[in-house]
Amino acid sequence: MSFSDYFCSETWRESEMHRRFKDLLLPKTPQELENLAQQARQLTWQNFGKTMRLFAPLYLSNECVNACEYCGFSRDNESIVRVTLSPEQVETEARYLVNEGFRSLLLVAGEHPKFVSQSYLRECLDRLHTFVPSLSLEIGPMETADYLPLVKAGAEGLVVYQETYDREIYAELHTAGPKKDFDWRLNCAERAYEAGFKRLGIGALFGLADWRVEALALAAHVDYLLKHCWKSFLTVSLPRLRPAAGEFAPLTRLDDRDLTQLICALRLAFPQVGLVLSTREPQRLRDGLIPLGITHMSAGSHTEPGGYTGAGKEKVHHTVRGKAMPVIASEGEHKPATEQFAIADARSPKEVAQRLQEMGYDPVWKDWDQRLN
Ligand code: SF4
Repeated sequence: MSFSDYFCSETWRESEMHRRFKDLLLPKTPQELENLAQQARQLTWQNFGKTMRLFAPLYLSNECVNACEYCGFSRDNESIVRVTLSPEQVETEARYLVNEGFRSLLLVAGEHPKFVSQSYLRECLDRLHTFVPSLSLEIGPMETADYLPLVKAGAEGLVVYQETYDREIYAELHTAGPKKDFDWRLNCAERAYEAGFKRLGIGALFGLADWRVEALALAAHVDYLLKHCWKSFLTVSLPRLRPAAGEFAPLTRLDDRDLTQLICALRLAFPQVGLVLSTREPQRLRDGLIPLGITHMSAGSHTEPGGYTGAGKEKVHHTVRGKAMPVIASEGEHKPATEQFAIADARSPKEVAQRLQEMGYDPVWKDWDQRLN
């Protein structure tokens, strides 16, 4: 039974895990929350030590055939500046990030079969895997057979967020493109597992549906994948909506206290799952959440293609009903591609690593090598 069948059957609501996780999400007094935090801290140290894996997103393309109301790259945002980096330009960006210390990169792209094709991705991976030990992908969902060559070319992780586990809200927010198919996306992690990805990343985008309802469904997904895709390491992300082109206003709120409780709840329910915190969150909050369960952090991120080195700026354009249109910029000036969302923690990778060390943590730049395979 696939996760989408299990999720439809609603039997997951009768499980012991569901009952326990629901209790962890109930409103807590300050003392109760402090108790949860202490247990979460202890479990994180037991399972991961005082370490933090650092990674950087590398955006390949901001072209997209989907209409997702909350995303700056949505195909309906015709005014944004778009570009797809050539494999050479992707290498330029990757070499910059390696020079910054990173050995783990997440290659991110909008869903566009023409610009971000399987062969394009393979070429990027071929160029990068000789000098970047850990490469993961955050791209449009594919069939298992289409993932196989990407795994062979060196991709070891696949990240796909369901965005929202509420079918009705999902249908309202995804109005065009292949992403409209809720179940196709929901079963993506299983297809990736069959193809041999060693790391699977899932998550929900908080700000679309009630956070507790969303978190319960996300926990059911984690529980299912731990049982059915147990050979892969699983990570969970809890991104909150950030300002982006299109200016979509969050429909619901997950405040800092609730986010803290959710991180503690996930750590208590799933002690060995990786928890990811991105630069969407501000410095002070990120530092405060480090001991409570976070195991993976991005640093110094750019969310636009070419954001690290300016690569690709000569090819930028608008995409209007599928056609490339020139960008009007002042003479001699190249407009950069539009970012997916604004980041909140602008510290450099070095500053983040330094802060981790001050807090007694080891920043881990590399934890995987192909030769260990
Ligand atoms: S969320 Fe992903 S699929 Fe949707 S518009 Fe943005 S890049 Fe495209």
